[in-house]
Amino acid sequence: MKKINFYSGPAILPQEVMEQAKEGITDFAGTGLSILEISHRSKEFVKVMEDARSLVKELMQLKDDREVLFLQGGGSSQFFMVPMNLLNTNETAEYFDTGQWAHGAMEEAKNFGHVHVACSSKADKYRHIPTQYQVSDFSKYLHITSNNTVYGTQFHWWPQPKCATVVDMSSDIFSRKVDYNRFDLIYAGAQKNMGAAGTTLVVVNKNILGSVDRKLPKMLDYRTHINAQSMSNTPSCFAVYVSYLTLQWIKKQGLQAIEERNTRKANKLYAAIDSSSLFKGTVANEDRSQMNVCFNIPSTTLPVEGGASTNLLEEKFIAFAANYGIVGIKGYRTVGGFRASIYNAMPESGVDILIEAMREFERSHA
Ligand SMILES: *Cc1c(COP(=O)(O)O)cnc(C)c1O
Repeated sequence: MKKINFYSGPAILPQEVMEQAKEGITDFAGTGLSILEISHRSKEFVKVMEDARSLVKELMQLKDDREVLFLQGGGSSQFFMVPMNLLNTNETAEYFDTGQWAHGAMEEAKNFGHVHVACSSKADKYRHIPTQYQVSDFSKYLHITSNNTVYGTQFHWWPQPKCATVVDMSSDIFSRKVDYNRFDLIYAGAQKNMGAAGTTLVVVNKNILGSVDRKLPKMLDYRTHINAQSMSNTPSCFAVYVSYLTLQWIKKQGLQAIEERNTRKANKLYAAIDSSSLFKGTVANEDRSQMNVCFNIPSTTLPVEGGASTNLLEEKFIAFAANYGIVGIKGYRTVGGFRASIYNAMPESGVDILIEAMREFERSHA
């Protein structure tokens, strides 16, 4: 039976993208070769890379000074590549400490310059995104994480600093209409909302580059990849291909329609949680994520130092939901509870089945 995939990443992909990717493995673009074996310098693959980059430009309606790159090393490598390329040792970068990944990005920046915590919700176990923050006009950049994948909070407003803004959009890229030009650097590991694991999208305002004194390793300098159009070395051909197919799928639907569907899916799931006597939401209502919906069964949850264990009733629900074909709803290992990741490719019917499973379980266990 085809499972309903609520995993946080690698995550669900559109069925038609999967079919096309399968086709590409047997016969890529009519070449008689597999995407897995064809040269990245072949005209067919070069076209995939070029089209993928221009699809990003088109979907984000990017200005001419924005460069689109497909890099490797995951979202995590951007945690250090950003400060390495932007921050001198005597300069300060601002970080919003709003979750596990945001915190990780901040820690890496300390290796390159000064870090100022503009705000933090760590003491509140990252259950909200602070609206009060302090950002100096003289800082080099502000880093935010648009969607906190682990805790299930998401920005529904944007800070407006005088300095450049860098955003980690790994888990909500292309999930909604955003003025993407307001950010000077956007990055996202592809495996959550735009493709297969192995490539990371970076969109950078080229005007912010070239102002650090340190010597950059060639492969870690954004300018290398801008100059080579992301073909400086062998790219992750297959991962880029799957992103390209997903970008085409996104274009076909339109960001507007995708956003509307994501809102409908999230609203109905949160409504089911709010009307439940068993399941409870775990984050501040105004910051709820439309991508990662976190909830738990609080009555029997025992707080565990240094992490959270899934309680017995929660374990039971995970097993119960599996009968509906539902997989991947277990919360992050340090958080516990449940996390339903309902990215772009999750159909509304998948969310409906989860809600049905929750109601049915509640009837027998409340
Ligand atoms: C998953 C995730 C990352 C880490 O991505 P990798 O590609 O595994 O390195 C970084 N930031 C956010 C917001 C994420 O959700």
